[in-house]
Amino acid sequence: MNQLVQTEQQATAEAIDISPSRQSGGKISLVGIGPGSHAHMTQRARDVIAEADTIIGYVTYIKLVADLIVGKEIIRKSMTEELDRAIHALEFAQQGKKVALISSGDAGVYGMAGPTFEVLFQAGWTPATGVEVEIVPGASALNTCASLVGAPLTHDFCSISLSDLLTPWPVIARRLDAAAAADFVCALYNPKSGRRTQQIVEAQRLFLRHRDPTTPVAIVKSAYRPKQRIEFTTLEKMSDCDIGMLTTVLIGNSNTFIREGRMVTPRGYANKYSMEDHATHDGEKAGRSLSTGLTGWLENLHADHQAGVSAIELAQRHHLPLDYIQSTLEQGLASPSNDGATEIMMESEA
Ligand code: SAH
Repeated sequence: MNQLVQTEQQATAEAIDISPSRQSGGKISLVGIGPGSHAHMTQRARDVIAEADTIIGYVTYIKLVADLIVGKEIIRKSMTEELDRAIHALEFAQQGKKVALISSGDAGVYGMAGPTFEVLFQAGWTPATGVEVEIVPGASALNTCASLVGAPLTHDFCSISLSDLLTPWPVIARRLDAAAAADFVCALYNPKSGRRTQQIVEAQRLFLRHRDPTTPVAIVKSAYRPKQRIEFTTLEKMSDCDIGMLTTVLIGNSNTFIREGRMVTPRGYANKYSMEDHATHDGEKAGRSLSTGLTGWLENLHADHQAGVSAIELAQRHHLPLDYIQSTLEQGLASPSNDGATEIMMESEA
């Protein structure tokens, strides 16, 4: 292993002329500090911040950890200086310093982790060049905002950033359209700023093409910070609400409901069990795929087709692409049924 590392080091040093002084023992830690309150920061985030010589971050995040960084070298950057932050981090690490780059939430979710690796690779970084990189996970806005409103993410969800600072609008709009059509619960990051006020209106318009106007929406501002504010609304009223830079918008799916001030997306137990006496519905078995799961669905698809239902009708019925239905019908029912395999229920629920 040592041999390998040494060989790689030599090769890289030759290729990009990394002088021995640059093989520094320095370190860049990409630290997600969670939503903002110390209670929701991980122990590892605290430890890494405590070990760091230099702290780099957006001014607001620096303020959030002010009492943990007394006496350290602090580089405050503005929002738009992400690449600058990463370049600075690399320079300090090359001098042998331990640098903590602070992101709110998780550093890998619309945070500093991506830009930092881009800068590192641009500079010829490899794990063998002497600068260690650690990514410390943190609770992202979608986790923390969800926890404040109930259990909105208990079924498939996706996150979409409405920021068009680095992403063309058609890309964002296509993703909004696809997520809305596929009935994902959706967390919208960067929904609105002083300058970007129309993106949320467009998002609403795209969602309303697929979703009921009464679909529940939660608007969470400054989660776990002193100015925390939670508002429940509906898809049709969402864009009239107070939304800003520090807001995450959670749009429910077609089954999401709000009750007793809690937004809940069902896991799907009602598809299998009576919610009154917990008995399984006819044709369903505990620990097995639903009768409309893959195996049961394939059997029904073939039976319907044999009974004269066309592939086009089946594609419309199941909201699936025609070529997928056609190739599925062509494949026949040859694949072995998974009905014999018992799933351990708790495994998927844990
Ligand atoms: N890395 C961060 C996201 C940075 S993008 C994370 O993992 O959470 C910035 C966006 O995150 C904001 O526009 C907002 O949509 C969301 N956000 C970050 N902190 C938040 C908080 N405390 N409350 C609500 N939304 C927050």
